[in-house]
Amino acid sequence: MRRKLVVGNWKMFGRLARNKELLAGVMSGVGALRNTDCAVCVPYPYLSQVQTLLQGSNVAWGAQNMSHHEEGAFTGEVAAGMLQEFGCKYVILGHSERRGIYHENDDLVALKFEAAIKAGLKPILCVGETLEERDAGVTEEVVARQLDAVINRSGVKTLQQAIVAYEPVWAIGTGKTASPEQAQAVHAFIRQRVAKLDGQVAQGLCILYGGSVKAANAPELFSMSDIDGGLIGGASLVAEDFVAICRAGK
Ligand code: PEP
Repeated sequence: MRRKLVVGNWKMFGRLARNKELLAGVMSGVGALRNTDCAVCVPYPYLSQVQTLLQGSNVAWGAQNMSHHEEGAFTGEVAAGMLQEFGCKYVILGHSERRGIYHENDDLVALKFEAAIKAGLKPILCVGETLEERDAGVTEEVVARQLDAVINRSGVKTLQQAIVAYEPVWAIGTGKTASPEQAQAVHAFIRQRVAKLDGQVAQGLCILYGGSVKAANAPELFSMSDIDGGLIGGASLVAEDFVAICRAGK
C-alpha cells in the first residue's frame, strides 16, 4: 500500500514572519498523520528558516527548482548540494511555470532530475498538458514525452527515488480542477507506461495530482486508486486549508 504525500508549493510567496505563523499552524494541524507524509517546497532564501522551524517535526521541506550543474560560474543558480546542506528532502522539477515562463525543455529537466538523484534528493517531476494540447487530444503523448525524457536519461529504476506530479497546466492557479476521473485516467496511464518497463517500480511509484486542489475537492481526488496525494499551490499558503488537504489523504 502506497503512503499518501501532500506537498505545498509556496511559489514566490513568503516573508519571515508570515512563514513562521504558517508553519506553526501546519505543524500543529498535521500532528502525527499515520498514512500521509507532508512537505513544503519554499523559496531558496527561506530554506534556513524552514529547516530550523521544521526540524524534528512531521513536515519535510524542499526547494522548487535547482541547477543541473554541481557548481561553477552560473550566476543566480543553486546546486543540489546546497539544497542538501539545508536538509531538503524534495525538489520540484519541471513545474509548468518553469517550462512555460523560463523555457525549460524536457532535456534540461532530465539533466536536473539526474543531478537531483545523484545528490540524494527526491525530485518531484511535474508533467502535464496545456489546454490546447488536451483539446487536440494529445494529453497522453505530451505526458509520455515528458516522462520518457527522464526515464531515457536516468533509467526507470530512478523513479524509486522520485515522485511524479501530474499537473494539467490549465488547472494550475485557475480554480479549474481536473475531475477525479480525468485525473485518474492520466495517473493510470503514467503508471501503466512505467509498468511496461518495470512492474515493481510502477506499483511503488507515488503519483501526485496538482491543479487547484482545495480542502473541498481533495478527498474525492485522493480516493482515486492511482492518485497518491497532491502538489498544492495556492491552498498551501493558508495553514487551515493545507492541513485539511493533508488530512484528506488518510
Ligand atoms: C502548483 O503550483 O503546482 C499548483 C498546483 O498550484 P495551484 O494549487 O494553485 O493550482
